[in-house]
Amino acid sequence: MKDCLFCKIAAGEIPSKSVYSDGDVYAFHDIAPKAPTHILVIPRRHIARLADAGEADRDLIGEVVARAAAIARDLGLEHYRLVANNGEGAGQTVFHLHFHLMGGRTMTWPPG
Ligand code: AMP
Ligand code: ZN
Repeated sequence: MKDCLFCKIAAGEIPSKSVYSDGDVYAFHDIAPKAPTHILVIPRRHIARLADAGEADRDLIGEVVARAAAIARDLGLEHYRLVANNGEGAGQTVFHLHFHLMGGRTMTWPPG
C-alpha cells in the first residue's frame, strides 16, 4: 500500500535491520527498542490492524505468529512477549499489522 511505512520497509524501499524474510513474512529490529531484543514481525500483505484481518488472512497471521516463535527459538529466547497493539488507544502508531517480539529482560504484568 502506498505511503505505508511498513509496506515500504518490507519492500526494501526504506532500510531496516532484517531478521527474517520470505514471500509472506518480514521481521526486522525495532528502531527504538523497548527491550534488549525487540523485533517486529509483519505480514508483507497490508493489513492495517488485527481487527481488520478477515477469513482470508487467517493462515497468514498464523504464519506470522509461528515465525515469531521460531525467531525467538533461534535467538535462544525462552521467555518473551509477543504483542500486537490494535488501535490508537492500545498504543498502535503504525497502521500495518505487526507483532512486537520482546525479550531479554523481565516483563511486568499487566502492561500499561
Ligand atoms: P506500535 O506503536 O505498536 O504501532 O509499534 C510501532 C513500532 O514501530 C514502534 O515500536 C516503533 O519504534 C517502530 N518503528 C517506527 N518506525 C520504524 C522504523 N523505521 N524501523 C523500525 N521500527 C520502527
Ligand atoms: Zn502496509
